[in-house]
Amino acid sequence: MKYEAVIGLEVHAQMLTDTKIFCGCSTKFGSEPNSQTCQICIGMPGVLPVLNKKALEFAIRTGLATNCTIASYSRFARKNYFYPDLPKGYQISQYEHPICEHGYIEIVVDGTDKKIGITRIHMEEDAGKNIHEGGGNYSFVDLNRTGVPLMEIVSEPDMRTPSEAVEYMKKLRAIVRYLGVCDGNMEQGSLRCDANVSVRPVGQKEFGTRAEIKNINSFRFVEKAIEYEIKRQIKVIEDGGKVIQETRLWDSNKGITESMRSKEEAHDYRYFPDPDLVPITVEQTTIDEIRAGLPELPDAKRKRFVSDFGLPELDADLLTSEKTVAEWFEEAVKAGGQPKAVSNWMMGELMRLLNEENRSIENCLLKPEQLADMLVLIGKGTISGKIAKTIFTEMYKTGKDAGVIVKEKGLVQISDESAIEKAVDELIAKHPSEVERFRAGEEKLLGFFVGQVMKAMKGKANPQMLNDLLKKKLSS
Ligand code: ADP
Ligand code: MG
Ligand code: ZN
Repeated sequence: MKYEAVIGLEVHAQMLTDTKIFCGCSTKFGSEPNSQTCQICIGMPGVLPVLNKKALEFAIRTGLATNCTIASYSRFARKNYFYPDLPKGYQISQYEHPICEHGYIEIVVDGTDKKIGITRIHMEEDAGKNIHEGGGNYSFVDLNRTGVPLMEIVSEPDMRTPSEAVEYMKKLRAIVRYLGVCDGNMEQGSLRCDANVSVRPVGQKEFGTRAEIKNINSFRFVEKAIEYEIKRQIKVIEDGGKVIQETRLWDSNKGITESMRSKEEAHDYRYFPDPDLVPITVEQTTIDEIRAGLPELPDAKRKRFVSDFGLPELDADLLTSEKTVAEWFEEAVKAGGQPKAVSNWMMGELMRLLNEENRSIENCLLKPEQLADMLVLIGKGTISGKIAKTIFTEMYKTGKDAGVIVKEKGLVQISDESAIEKAVDELIAKHPSEVERFRAGEEKLLGFFVGQVMKAMKGKANPQMLNDLLKKKLSS
């Protein structure tokens, strides 16, 4: 029997507002425990929450960027459960009337676009954090995170493979980062994902029973956790058992998912409209204004990079995954760099160097105009492509212009024919037997000669001239 997986993701994105969703406390990360709290976010009786306008705007931005309908009427609901990190005994969330619904985002699967439906996006408050370190027979509770605004972005069960789920997460992360509504940091938990996974025999219409997997905090684990879960469910079925609906926890050390609790149902939470918060009405003019302020999004940029700059899809995809990278590229092109050449240097050397240091492109000493200038030097034959690598690394490290480095290090390409000829003659005189073998038809020895002359000339010989001269001399 062949099986097919069905995957839907619930993503929580922490919004980049300065203050919490229902009070004025700071959302800054990493402060002294419980230093960013007030009566409202610690849930004292009788206090009244007031919605942070910025949080609402961010949720609408995200909805518009993901092709959702923005609700003209939405409201908050109380989701009731008991846990030490939830001082009120309920979380303020949205239930029946979320702010955004019925959207989609596009991912690329095997070279073609696939739409993944967005069921809904709703706003809610984060809970606090229980801390179990410190020894003793007790735990600590830090409420700094309580009330930090979140968006929950729920997808339709439209994904079929772990890699589609990864692509979806990557696209979503790119979108929220482009919008500036979330920093997308998965390690720190500002973007987290629960994966709903089920399997069914290929050809069957109905979905199988799903398990919900929590605690997935990287793209690699999205893939690994879902892969593991698919295999596990298939095995359960093939062994004659039944998959049960439950919540499972991904253990990244063991590389497995483990049962955590049986799945709670909506009625377990006793949802009801929050009487302390007025319903939200959003005017069409507000929606239009927010839409007008949206930046160009990754998909539009990717398509434009292909059509305007003639870049291959792969280049366009990589260069637009981060807004800052895309902007760097466009600046280099504006400064005169040939697009494909700029792309090659960025995707090769620049990304390698940035990754090595775990540095972001905003903090790069090398500026886009400087890459464009270096490309001009290559074009004019002042420096060879080979030398350019050395120069590029130096530019990256020091932020100096290519021209300056060329002068300082004496790296100008030698295009003086007599100088190259002299080196070629010397080499030929030194290696009579290789010359004979070459003349007898062992043509691959040309590479040996090129390498030796280049070495003698410290890599500075004009490669085209060197090649021509060598061919001429060796065959005469
Ligand atoms: P809950 O809050 O109970 O987890 P939601 O409806 O909010 O329920 O979320 C359900 C998520 O699970 C959605 O992302 C949806 O696409 C996905 N889903 C629903 N049914 C299945 C299924 N049979 N297999 C895989 N995913 C599913
Ligand atoms: Mg869920
Ligand atoms: Zn507060």
